[in-house]
Amino acid sequence: MADAAQFSLAEERAVRETYARDGHADCPRCAVRMQAKALGGGSFGLGYARRREWLLCPGCHRSVLFDLKRGTRN
Ligand SMILES: [Zn+2]
Repeated sequence: MADAAQFSLAEERAVRETYARDGHADCPRCAVRMQAKALGGGSFGLGYARRREWLLCPGCHRSVLFDLKRGTRN
């Protein structure tokens, strides 16, 4: 099961932008509300607390992981 379903980059960006703007986002494929899960910050040995959130679609199980810090880019 190494091949987890993924959003395209464009879909992932749309989810991030929607979530940042509205505080919630719908899956671009299933049109169902994605579940937000907060991941604990500050435990990665980086010396600062970083809030991360993980949005999971209950329909297709695709997920988007992102930092809430502004301007984060990978
Ligand atoms: Zn979905």
